[in-house]
Amino acid sequence: MRSVNNFIQYTATGLYCSVGEFYLDPRKPVHKALISHAHGDHAVPNSGVIFTTPATRSLMNRRFQKSLRSQFVDVQFNESFEINGVVITFLPAGHMLGSAQILMEFAQEKYLYTGDFKLQSDESCEPFQFAKCDHLITETTFADPAYIHPNPIDEIKRLAETEENILIGAYAIGKAQRVTRLLSNHCPEKVLYVHPDLHSYHQIYEQYGMSLGNWQPYSKQEFTQQKNCVCVLPPNQFSRFSRNKAVIRYFATGWKRSFFRCDRILSISDHADWNDVLTLVKETGAQKIYTLHGDGTHLKSHLNSSGIEVTLLN
Ligand SMILES: [Zn+2]
Ligand SMILES: [Zn+2]
Repeated sequence: MRSVNNFIQYTATGLYCSVGEFYLDPRKPVHKALISHAHGDHAVPNSGVIFTTPATRSLMNRRFQKSLRSQFVDVQFNESFEINGVVITFLPAGHMLGSAQILMEFAQEKYLYTGDFKLQSDESCEPFQFAKCDHLITETTFADPAYIHPNPIDEIKRLAETEENILIGAYAIGKAQRVTRLLSNHCPEKVLYVHPDLHSYHQIYEQYGMSLGNWQPYSKQEFTQQKNCVCVLPPNQFSRFSRNKAVIRYFATGWKRSFFRCDRILSISDHADWNDVLTLVKETGAQKIYTLHGDGTHLKSHLNSSGIEVTLLN
C-alpha cells in the first residue's frame, strides 16, 4: 500500500492517518472523517464524526438533507486542535466557500493535504493561505504544462461583447457562485438571473458573508422578452435548454472541452493550473510530494533533477 512516511496510508476508502485514526475525505462513511470541502468527491455523508469548517457543514447539510446522521465538529481556520497527539490546523484552500487544506503535525514532521485548491483570486471564497511543510499531498487535476488558466476577469468580460441572451452552465456549489459574483462585478450592463435550484447554495454563501452581487431569481417570461440577460444554471438544468436556439450557451469549466453540450467554453477553473502547482511546491518548501487526482507524471518528471521526491498515490 502506498504511504506518506508511514503516517498516512492511501487506502481504497481514501487517505487514512493511522496515528490519528481518522480519514481525510473518505469515499464512504467511516468512524472519524476530516472533510476538506463540500464537493461530492470529497464530502460523503454519515460518517460518525465529521471535522470540517462551518461553511462546509452548512453546504453538506443542504446537499444531503435528511441523509446526514453525523456529529459535526466545527473547525475554524487557523485554530489548531489535537486528535491522538496529531496537531491539526485547517487553512483556506481558495477552491470554494469553506474549502480547507489540512495541516497535520506529528513527531516534528509537517504533513499538508491540499484537498482541491486554487491560487487565482476569487471574491466568492476565502483566499488560499500558504504554509510550510515537509510532506505535501497535492491534487494534480491540471498539473500539466498544457493547462495555464486564463484570467477569469478577462473570460467573463468576453460576455459583454454581445447583447444576445446567454445561458451559463456551472456546477451547483462553488462554480455557480463564483460566476455569479464575476458577472455582477464585471458585466453590470447585463440582467443577471439565477436558476431556482441554485438559490439555497447562493443564500448559504451570502450567510457566510460572501456577497454575490445583484442577482435575481430566473423568470422565463422576463428572460425571453428582454435582451442582454444572463442566466446561471446547474448542469442538469443546462442540458434541458440544449434545443433553445435563441441563446448562446456557455459552460464554465477549466477543461478544454465541456462534458455538456454547449456553444462555447467559459474557461474558469477552481483548480490550480500547472504554474499554481509549481508555486505551491516552491512556497511549501516540501521535499516530499505525493499526488492525487489527475496525473502526477508531469510533476514527477519536471522535479526529477531538483532533489524533490514525487510519489503518485493514485
Ligand atoms: Zn472540489
Ligand atoms: Zn475534487
